[in-house]
Amino acid sequence: MDTVPARTIITKNRDSSWFGCDYNMNLYRGCPHGCIYCDSRSACYHVENFDHVRVKENALLLVRDELRRKGKTGVIGSGAMCDSYNPFEQTELVTRHALELIDAFGFGISMLTKSDRIVRDADMYQSIAEHSPVLCMETVTTADDDLAAKLEPGAPSPTRRFAALKRLADAGVCTGVVMTPLLPFIEDNEENIRGIIEKTAESGARFLYGIMGVTVRDGQREYFYDGLERAFPGQGLAARYAKTYGNRYYCASRRAASLWEFFTRECERAGLLWDMPDIIHAYKKNYLYTQLSFPF
Ligand code: SF4
Repeated sequence: MDTVPARTIITKNRDSSWFGCDYNMNLYRGCPHGCIYCDSRSACYHVENFDHVRVKENALLLVRDELRRKGKTGVIGSGAMCDSYNPFEQTELVTRHALELIDAFGFGISMLTKSDRIVRDADMYQSIAEHSPVLCMETVTTADDDLAAKLEPGAPSPTRRFAALKRLADAGVCTGVVMTPLLPFIEDNEENIRGIIEKTAESGARFLYGIMGVTVRDGQREYFYDGLERAFPGQGLAARYAKTYGNRYYCASRRAASLWEFFTRECERAGLLWDMPDIIHAYKKNYLYTQLSFPF
């Protein structure tokens, strides 16, 4: 597959408020899942030809050297700007080999994906969990496969994502669902949220993290509006977004307050954590980090 030059793969996060991740790792550039709301398309990220996936040049050598140089272990997050389980990973195995390095160097991992390919690496997540925190998460914005096919046309269906979580949870891996975004006028209703809560609980996941809106920026906005017109022709959704939110960054559901109350109540009823500090505590509580001390 095509490569793209890279100077670094693993960067230190300014804070660890996002799922307790101390570092961020992007092995690939671009993503073929085609989500109409994808934030990574925003002009500020300067990723040209986003649908075309490229692997970072010498990715595994960089990962090895960067892990070796880190002063402290910690949790490495993946899935913020690309999907580590894009279809090419099946044959490229870059994510799998990066997990092997993460395991060998004593780091933890927080993996976010929209793919069920993550199940292939259940053994790696089990191995890492022997010494460090592990979190495997699927993004799900609707449990309705037909609606998801319109919003996320290149990604495996929510049914497949929930099945993957079930297999990981059965293997003893800590799992969760990330419900971001929740698209106003399309997904911001109790029925949609209830569907996600039910499937999340059935999958054996520990938590459901969610927001009641979508972030939209320059570059992403144009693609999003085009996608809305393609997915829901004649419904005027793009015009409705433009009229309601203009150029606003965070487009909150008009029903955000009542939906949030419904979401938190129903999560608690289903035995799911929803608050970020509780989620972080739940998957990290059995681990204590130590200074690195490698024999190599
Ligand atoms: S899976 Fe994530 S990175 Fe890929 S298109 Fe969808 S939102 Fe963007």
